[in-house]
Amino acid sequence: MNTIDNFNFSGKKALIRVDFNVPLNESFEITDDTRIQESAPTIKKILADGGMPILMSHLGRPKGVEEKYSLKHVQAHVAKVMGAEVIFASDCVGDVAENAAVGLKPGQILLLENLRFHKEEEAGDEAFAQKLAKLGDIYVNDAFGTAHRAHASTAIIAKFFPKAKCFGYLMAKEIVAIDKVLKNGEKPVTAVLGGSKVSSKITIINKMLDTVNNIIIGGGMTYTFVKAKGGKVGASICEDDKMELALDILKQAEAKGVNIYIPLDVIAADSFNNDAHTQVVEVDAIPDGWQGLDAGPKTLVKFAEVVKGSKTILWNGPLGVFEFDNFSNGTKALGDAIGEATASGAFSLVGGGDSVAAVKQFGFQNKVSYVSTGGGAMLESLEGKELPGIKAILE
Ligand code: AMP
Repeated sequence: MNTIDNFNFSGKKALIRVDFNVPLNESFEITDDTRIQESAPTIKKILADGGMPILMSHLGRPKGVEEKYSLKHVQAHVAKVMGAEVIFASDCVGDVAENAAVGLKPGQILLLENLRFHKEEEAGDEAFAQKLAKLGDIYVNDAFGTAHRAHASTAIIAKFFPKAKCFGYLMAKEIVAIDKVLKNGEKPVTAVLGGSKVSSKITIINKMLDTVNNIIIGGGMTYTFVKAKGGKVGASICEDDKMELALDILKQAEAKGVNIYIPLDVIAADSFNNDAHTQVVEVDAIPDGWQGLDAGPKTLVKFAEVVKGSKTILWNGPLGVFEFDNFSNGTKALGDAIGEATASGAFSLVGGGDSVAAVKQFGFQNKVSYVSTGGGAMLESLEGKELPGIKAILE
């Protein structure tokens, strides 16, 4: 893979697209610096080579120039994390940026103002990309979180660095993780797909049918499958207009030799509420007025058995309404099983959409092999789409 390891950055200006789109509180303090931490290996390696990192990122969704979305709010923290002086340029292109880039010395980092203060960024404007390109000698893309966007700084800019473009370490890690699940993972490969709706997961299910050995279906999607097969789902979340699709998925899985596992029993509740009354019932015999909000004990034993028998595991989406403490057991138990499988040598990737929230809430990030940093970008990768940010470097 074409990474920063293929370049010697000594005396060179590395124009790095990072994802510093971090959450800030009302006092503009960073409340979660994961994205900055994740970019540190790339930035530090370039500094260690004697290179000069020039960092460009977006922050939030500003409409024009909006003070609250200024990247100067992260300047001090970036300096602390990287252990280097950070100079801030109050614009990402033009004289201000160019003069700052020219004056940059080895050991210093230049942080450019929010790319999205210019509408040309999201428009993928070529002239704007060229202005950015003037600032550096080598283009590095390390912003996996925006790799699914064909923006000026994430994709278009690469054409101005035909021989001097590469992935940063974070991008490289994400690409390796995706390939392990989609292409060269050790078998059996299992995808655990939870979450609320079949409609939002259909593309990923279709892709997994061509990729994996086992698919575990959980969460709210369960009931569309169960009802389609003639079961009683009570008041559970169910997409009636997707029942035919569900049956088609089951048929395709059979034809392709993919095992599909659906919950056997569930924790049913008499309302959508943490303090609802509950009972354990068979998945296809949920009483009227009751709704399945978590996986039941028999289900968890079966799912754990499948997961522990796997060598490669993808986890996308919770097994129940994990935001309610009383319905988080299934998601936690699944995380434990994936953690055990990982400890025994399996590769496990968590990512796509909001899955990472559940993993962080229960502290699973250290028990799985890899937690993706890019919700939308990972989801699109797992759906089999080619990401513009990756393609632009490979071309
Ligand atoms: P998604 O964004 O599609 O991955 O879905 C995640 C959401 O699905 C979480 O907020 C869960 O609360 C919700 N969810 C999981 N299981 C159920 C269920 N049985 N009934 C309703 N919502 C569920």
